[in-house]
Amino acid sequence: MGAFKRIFMVINPNAGVKKKVNTLCDIVNVFADHGYETIVSYTRKSGDAAALVEEHADDQIDMIVCMGGDGTLNEALSGARKIGWKKPVGYIPAGSTNDFAASLGLPSEPKEAAEQIMEGTPRRLDLGIFNGRTFVYTASCGLFTRTSYETPQKFKNRLGHLAYILEGVKDLTQFTPIYMKIDTGEEIYEGEFILTAVCNTFSLGGVMSLDNGEIDLGDGLYEILMIRQPKDIIQMNEAVKALYEQNFDHDLVNLVKVRKAKIICPSKEDWSLDGERGEGQEINEFEVVSGGMKLIY
Ligand SMILES: [Mg+2]
Repeated sequence: MGAFKRIFMVINPNAGVKKKVNTLCDIVNVFADHGYETIVSYTRKSGDAAALVEEHADDQIDMIVCMGGDGTLNEALSGARKIGWKKPVGYIPAGSTNDFAASLGLPSEPKEAAEQIMEGTPRRLDLGIFNGRTFVYTASCGLFTRTSYETPQKFKNRLGHLAYILEGVKDLTQFTPIYMKIDTGEEIYEGEFILTAVCNTFSLGGVMSLDNGEIDLGDGLYEILMIRQPKDIIQMNEAVKALYEQNFDHDLVNLVKVRKAKIICPSKEDWSLDGERGEGQEINEFEVVSGGMKLIY
């Protein structure tokens, strides 16, 4: 048997339900069965996953695997992009927020996810850059999206997606619409929005499906979903109906494909980048890095 190939694995132990040591043994065993030696590092605080990848994913490493929530994947990919990583990245979803994992159809059982990585194919998928920061599947502002970084981790763990839904419902009555001017280079959308989400995913906040058969995670395009402020409860119901029916050519609900966008927001609202807080600016710049990540699954 030849020399082992090496996996650098970064684990966020605080993402979602803590997995037992046995889970890690199972995963490392799966990798070993396929000829990989695994070097494991744990994150302790926000930012660690990116820093650990930058530090450890050198020439001796053949694959990066991250285990955690979508935020952990975001960080691992940010770190990988920073060091010009060209080899594959694997993702073992273990957090409460796994919209992107769900989008990819990754198994929720960590051992199965590890097996899928070993038997998988590297695929080039797009990455988004928002105000200079890497994100994988969503940069959003408004309804549903404040929740992902404002809901304390302990509640996220306990409630999972329910937290999003409850917070979302609370937002419906308490929400202050956000004035924005969204310039896609082809069209300008202007007004009061309750949700603006730049995304490359089939699922948003665990509650909204964008699977209308037209979404492709590697087409070099992201979608911008814009929901305008309804004037009354009747309009709100219409907007919800439009979402359910995926009628995106609606007065209140639009979905457009973009390669880049400039989003002007005078109130400098914060954004959520894959569930992590992104500080708001008056002028927000978004662009797609076509095929910016090589994910294996
Ligand atoms: Mg796309």
